[in-house]
Amino acid sequence: MSHDPNCIFCRIAQGSIPSRKVYEDEELLAFHDIHPWAPVHFLLIPKDHIASLAQVQPSHAPLLGRMMSLVPTLAQQEGCRPYPEGGFRLVCNTGAHGGQEVAHLHFHVIGGPRPWLKG
Ligand code: AMP
Ligand code: ZN
Repeated sequence: MSHDPNCIFCRIAQGSIPSRKVYEDEELLAFHDIHPWAPVHFLLIPKDHIASLAQVQPSHAPLLGRMMSLVPTLAQQEGCRPYPEGGFRLVCNTGAHGGQEVAHLHFHVIGGPRPWLKG
């Protein structure tokens, strides 16, 4: 597993920067976004430093699959109402034109009753 000492999400994954944890296992961490757009807004990251979705390789497919399949469970646990009347938005900003600010792969999971601050 690789870590970049200058990467804020690697430092959160390693516990050297605090976060409000939603979920953790050996490979993954979910924590609340510090600037939430909506009543529910957390980030799901691999602990391995992958800079963005653009760097994902076929060997990462099981990891990505685990991330995707965790999202609905965590969303509901954090207060999103069930599908279809509830639900959530899954966002993965990639690169400058994609609006990515932190260069460590992350899924935004955003939900809860509207209106939202953004989105
Ligand atoms: P993006 O634009 O997709 O790279 O989004 C990065 C997200 O990380 C933003 O929504 C920030 O609010 C969030 N963020 C940045 N630093 C932290 C932090 N220390 N703890 C939690 N969320 C953070
Ligand atoms: Zn990182």
